[in-house]
Amino acid sequence: MFGSSTAVTTEAPVRLKAADGGSPLAAPITVTDSIAMWIEELSRLEGTSKKECIDSIGALEDLKAAAAAAQARFAADYDSRQRHDQSALGMPKKEQGKGIAGEIALARRVSPNQGNQHLGFSKALVNEMPHTLKALTAGKVSEWRATLLVKETACLTVEDRAEVDHQLASDQNYLQGLSDRRLTAEARKASYQLDPQSVVRRAAKATNERTVTGRPAPDAMAYVTALLPASQGVAVLAALTRAANGPRAEGDQRGRGQFMADTFVERITGQSQADATAVDVQLVMTDRTLLAGDGEPAFLPGYGVIPAQVGRDLARQGTAAAEAWIRRLYTAPVSGQLVGMDSRSRLFPKGLSRFIATRDQICGTPWCDAPIRHTDHVVPWSAGGQTNESNGRGLCEACNYAKEAPGWTVQAAPDPPDTGPVRDSRYTTKTSTPTGHVYWFTAPSLPGATPAKA
Ligand SMILES: [Zn+2]
Repeated sequence: MFGSSTAVTTEAPVRLKAADGGSPLAAPITVTDSIAMWIEELSRLEGTSKKECIDSIGALEDLKAAAAAAQARFAADYDSRQRHDQSALGMPKKEQGKGIAGEIALARRVSPNQGNQHLGFSKALVNEMPHTLKALTAGKVSEWRATLLVKETACLTVEDRAEVDHQLASDQNYLQGLSDRRLTAEARKASYQLDPQSVVRRAAKATNERTVTGRPAPDAMAYVTALLPASQGVAVLAALTRAANGPRAEGDQRGRGQFMADTFVERITGQSQADATAVDVQLVMTDRTLLAGDGEPAFLPGYGVIPAQVGRDLARQGTAAAEAWIRRLYTAPVSGQLVGMDSRSRLFPKGLSRFIATRDQICGTPWCDAPIRHTDHVVPWSAGGQTNESNGRGLCEACNYAKEAPGWTVQAAPDPPDTGPVRDSRYTTKTSTPTGHVYWFTAPSLPGATPAKA
């Protein structure tokens, strides 16, 4: 998702210890305390010579790998403890494990999707690839190269995977000498020899990963990228090229690239002209920017911040529906909060859902960044939660299902912590996990907000 411009607002402060905190007085030194001491120590280190500077860079690389190995061991350990407890609570076997990847994601300050990958990586290393884990612990292989080894062996049986692990990682000095590309090639070669059918399974798995993503480009442009099976990718490009050839032969002045881009927009949006504002494109800007030529940037949900003039141009070419929508999402002058709406129904009406999606911009799980797909009652409707702006939040599909795990609670929090990046009245939620850790999410600021005091 187009998250880069808003990422800072999702970086809520995270407490290292459980919410109850506990007094540090006379308490035994915990693992997190001793790690904090190492971090403090690192900040004071200085090289005394050029040689020591280079030595230190190498040694710190070992430390990063060793830290990744320790994270993998903690993650696998937490997974088995939590599954054990969930089983003891009578949770059905197929539901056990729910919520764990989400907890690891929050602790690592990454999206739930990345948390899931980290957990899979950790379990594979700890349970199935002891040599790679040992090399990572010793700093002989980086976290990324260990990840390559895990990925390249993902389609093998446990026995074959153990064999590749032995072949490539039991000799740490050999492993250390391999570049990313050579490591991947060696892992593939070993895998194909052990199990030729794994090539077929890999191709099937890769097809499952087809997707379309978007990210902002400079100058109010955007990249829309499709990851497709090779034949489909070639077919899409051939179709666009063919479409461009006819009119260009008849003297159309647009360049081939421009014509292909216009055809792409027309066919995807179903419009006869490449006019994206006729589809449901929303725009948030202050009246000062729209009418008085003010320079405050506008906000285009699904993209991010756009320059004031680009916003005005978009508004001018918009349809009547787009103009109505602009009037509706008028932002409050001081806080930049969107002006609210209410509903008595259980389901969020379309207008209110759009309003909440515009306010939150991205999934309400800290660091998720995925596009909003559902409007969620923070306090469930069944527990007396209202269908209104303050009890509604936008979630992506995965997070909307993940939140059901036992031990998780979410509150709309009127008082975000004063240590975070947020110092105004923007919409904030507080998530508590089964281990008592607390995380904050604050909606990004919209046009019209007074800048937060430093
Ligand atoms: Zn999410």
